[in-house]
Amino acid sequence: MTVRRDALATALGAVHERVDTAMRRAERVDDVVLVVVTKYFPASDVEVLASLGVTDIGENRAQEVGEKIPVVAARPHLTVHFVGQLQTNKATAAARLVDVVQSVDRARLARALDSAAAQVGRVLDVTVQVRLDADPGRGGVAPEGARELADLVAGCASLRLRGVMAVAPLGEDPRSAFGRLRAVADTVREDHPDAEWMSAGMSGDLEYAIAEGATHLRVGSAILGSRPSQR
Ligand SMILES: *Cc1c(COP(=O)(O)O)cnc(C)c1O
Repeated sequence: MTVRRDALATALGAVHERVDTAMRRAERVDDVVLVVVTKYFPASDVEVLASLGVTDIGENRAQEVGEKIPVVAARPHLTVHFVGQLQTNKATAAARLVDVVQSVDRARLARALDSAAAQVGRVLDVTVQVRLDADPGRGGVAPEGARELADLVAGCASLRLRGVMAVAPLGEDPRSAFGRLRAVADTVREDHPDAEWMSAGMSGDLEYAIAEGATHLRVGSAILGSRPSQR
């Protein structure tokens, strides 16, 4: 356990250093939120991360959230972000267990989350996931549809529109992809000035995301190591 704690502390420190350097290069003096993506890793890692000062974690499978988050919930407050593709029939579980759903990419899911959140008496923070490549299988609304979906989310009483999110496409310069996301984020902010979040940047491309104005990074393997399924 202390070995794991040391490893996580070292890796977390290295990521913070990358973030600080990138923020300086981008001449940014605002803050960026580091969401540590703990998917496939045990609740014990989440607890260690929380003790190291991590405030936000990300998960991408509803089932794992159901198993892990109740264990974590006994500990000091953490903001839990859902970042994976979410089936409509898992909306109730998500509304109960997470604080933020970053991956809202269709009207039906937004409506399901809205009524689920209303039922459990919560207001869920939401970002609209934008697709930056041509493959609809990877999730996200097409950039042209983002504004309309953002309007719909903003009109849901139990959802709070916070901004946009995206994953960089494979095989493309991440900087130009994040530039397109930034343009979508700007359009959404014209109608919804409070929707300030731009969630972009993972272990391999966080510097590009910071350069393009990301407010939230989602970093997994650079902190936790390669995921068990990838070993
Ligand atoms: C797994 C995941 C991440 C973290 O990816 P790493 O490359 O391990 O940093 C970020 N965003 C989403 C949506 C993910 O599913």
